[in-house]
Amino acid sequence: MTTALYLEDSYLKECDAWVASVKDDKYVVLDQTIFYPKGGGQPSDTGKIMKEDETYEVVYVGKFAGEISHEVDRAGLKQGDRIHAILNWERRYKLMRSHTAAHVLASLLCEGTGALVTGNQLEEEKVRFDFSLEEYNQEILSDYMDKANTLLTKDIPVKWYWLPKEEALKIPGVVKMAEALPPDIPNLRIVEIVGVDKQADGGTHVRNLKEVGQIKLLKTQNKGKSNRRVYFTLV
Ligand SMILES: [Zn+2]
Repeated sequence: MTTALYLEDSYLKECDAWVASVKDDKYVVLDQTIFYPKGGGQPSDTGKIMKEDETYEVVYVGKFAGEISHEVDRAGLKQGDRIHAILNWERRYKLMRSHTAAHVLASLLCEGTGALVTGNQLEEEKVRFDFSLEEYNQEILSDYMDKANTLLTKDIPVKWYWLPKEEALKIPGVVKMAEALPPDIPNLRIVEIVGVDKQADGGTHVRNLKEVGQIKLLKTQNKGKSNRRVYFTLV
C-alpha cells in the first residue's frame, strides 16, 4: 500500500520513492507519493518522475482498487527502480488555495442559510460549486462571497488530522455533501478551519486562510427550483 504523503504534508513538492509496480508500461505504483489522485472534487496532480537523467511526465493520477496509480507518458519504468518525484507545484498550490476557499464558502452558506452542498468540482482556473437552496437571489450570494472574502483576509490556521469515525460523525456539519456517506474506514480525516469549519475531507489545503487570497464570482446558474450552480475563481 502506497504511503500517501500529501495527506500529512500538502506542502511537499518532491520526494524519493521506489517503483512498486508498473502495469501496461504506463501505470506506475510507488511505495510513497506526493501526487494527489483525483477524487472528492479535486483533480489529480501532474508533474514528473525522474529516474537518473530520464524524465517521465505524470499526466494523471487516480485511485484504482485502493492503489494510487500514476499514469506516465512513456514506457521505461520498472518495478524496483529508485525514482525522484516532482510535483507541478504551481497547479497544486492553486488547487489547495481554491479547495480551502470552497470550504469557507460552503461553511458560511450552509450555516447561514441551511443550504445543502450537492456538488463541488475544482479546476485549475475555476471552482464549480452546487448547492440546494430555495430562498435565493443574487444578492444573498454576493453577500456570502463578501463574507468569505472578509474571512480570507484573516490569520486563521487550517489543520488536518484523523479522528475515529464515531467521534468524527458527532461534529455538526462534518459531512457537508448531501447524500455523501463517509467512507467505510475506521478513521476519518478532518480538515479544520479553526473557528470556521470542520469537514471530513481527503483533499489538500493551505495552512492559513491568508494564503488563499480573495475569490471572485464568475457566474451563477439556476438548475430547477432549488438547485444553484456557482462558479468562482481566485483573484
Ligand atoms: Zn473538500
